[in-house]
Amino acid sequence: MITTELSNVGNILHNQREFFQTGKTKDVNFRIEQLKSLKQTIIEHEKSIVEALQADLHKPEVEAYITEISVVKEIDYTIKHLQNWSKPKKAAVSWDFFSYSAKIYPEPLGVVLIIGPWNYPFQLIISPLIGAIAAGNCAIIKPSEIASHTSHIITEIIAKHFDPAYIAVVEGGVEASQKLLAEKFDHIFFTGGTAVGKIIMTAAAKYLTPVTLELGGKSPCIVDTDVNLEHTIRRITWGKFINAGQTCVAPDYLLVNKKIKKDLIDGLEKNLKEFYGDNPINSPDYARIISEKHFDRLVSFLKDGKVIIGGKTEPSERYIAPTVIDDVSLEDSVMQEEIFGPILPIIEYTDIAEAIALINSRPKPLALYLFSQDKNLQKQVLQETSSGGVCINDTVMQVGVSSLPFGGVGDSGIGNYHGKASFDTFSHKKSVLQNSFWLDLKWRYAPYKGKLPFIKKLLG
Ligand code: NAD
Repeated sequence: MITTELSNVGNILHNQREFFQTGKTKDVNFRIEQLKSLKQTIIEHEKSIVEALQADLHKPEVEAYITEISVVKEIDYTIKHLQNWSKPKKAAVSWDFFSYSAKIYPEPLGVVLIIGPWNYPFQLIISPLIGAIAAGNCAIIKPSEIASHTSHIITEIIAKHFDPAYIAVVEGGVEASQKLLAEKFDHIFFTGGTAVGKIIMTAAAKYLTPVTLELGGKSPCIVDTDVNLEHTIRRITWGKFINAGQTCVAPDYLLVNKKIKKDLIDGLEKNLKEFYGDNPINSPDYARIISEKHFDRLVSFLKDGKVIIGGKTEPSERYIAPTVIDDVSLEDSVMQEEIFGPILPIIEYTDIAEAIALINSRPKPLALYLFSQDKNLQKQVLQETSSGGVCINDTVMQVGVSSLPFGGVGDSGIGNYHGKASFDTFSHKKSVLQNSFWLDLKWRYAPYKGKLPFIKKLLG
């Protein structure tokens, strides 16, 4: 196992700054080569990555592919577009600037820090790294210590294929993070909880370092009546219970039209059996809770409301059955905190205005889900709520669309990434204005006497 001594952080950073200064990363062909190498590395180590995810989260192989290894698709997309994204773009100038030309040059920021969480511990490190490489930066990455097996495999594959003066991994927990945060970076990209997000932003403020904060929160899922119920149930079950609910964009709770609540609950019960069998603890397709601490936190939610489906737990395996709870109060802790586990509270409404008012009384969520074919209702929900993103008639799939920037708003985060948005996040847009010498009108130069009427006409 390769680990980085924390006392070495200053050295790594120094070496990366020197490497950045060579200008090598400014060459788009160099970046493309590095992205190809990253893709190749991932493909070569697919098996070990899947095993690490199994060891950390009991993550089913199919889920590991769909939600973690599939990050290679993002590499292909980036390689395909990178030459175009990196080109300076012409900017329009108004008629009074007729002798000028304007362009926007994307340029790399320098050395960036990427800190990841444990729930999709591979993808949520590699995906921002793709953006950092594409934009021409050096990067230090710190995976989550809680998904330790995945953290080790990331370290191993990065150390094997990249010079640490270009891309380096620092392993460890809070101490490692804080050691890194004491240094000056050119950008910090953080994925994690809102509370730690505030710590990151405070540390970054000391150096005026820009941050991207990919945070969490309670993502509501509205289910109205005008739906294909069978498809709705399947899509909610999948989005909520993949990775045992430990997904930042999982539907946190359901807001269900009273008229279909019973059918929806009956359907969820049937569908859960179809997905995971009579006893999900025996299913190879159902993950486990990451740690004892998170297990205990989730178990305490089971005291809220009334468990109507599931509810079984097995501490020795950190197993919590897919669970649906009814009769929760908005004051219950399960409705106050982000759940981040396989527990789904159901709240009914009679009028959509009640559901919208509830969403708007809370911090802005990362995702909002709406199941309804009613165009007017869709329009109303889009217009009257704010969230990082919205997915209509499905769950979670929005994160897989490279052309859609992914990120939060308000408490759910700052900034966004994926596809071109990742390139932009890790680039500075340098505005360049150029004048020519064929003319030099004197209206702006001193002495100003007598020039004001003309200037008023010109600028008016
Ligand atoms: P976390 O905030 O506890 O930890 C994230 C990272 O921060 C880890 O690498 C950890 O070592 C580090 N860290 C923890 N405490 C720190 C401190 N005091 N100072 C400096 N660094 C510290 O988050 P987590 O438990 O790993 O992940 C769960 C949270 O992440 C959930 O809230 C979830 O919604 C959110 N999340 C968001 C996204 C997204 O894309 N928006 C994706 C996944 C997870």
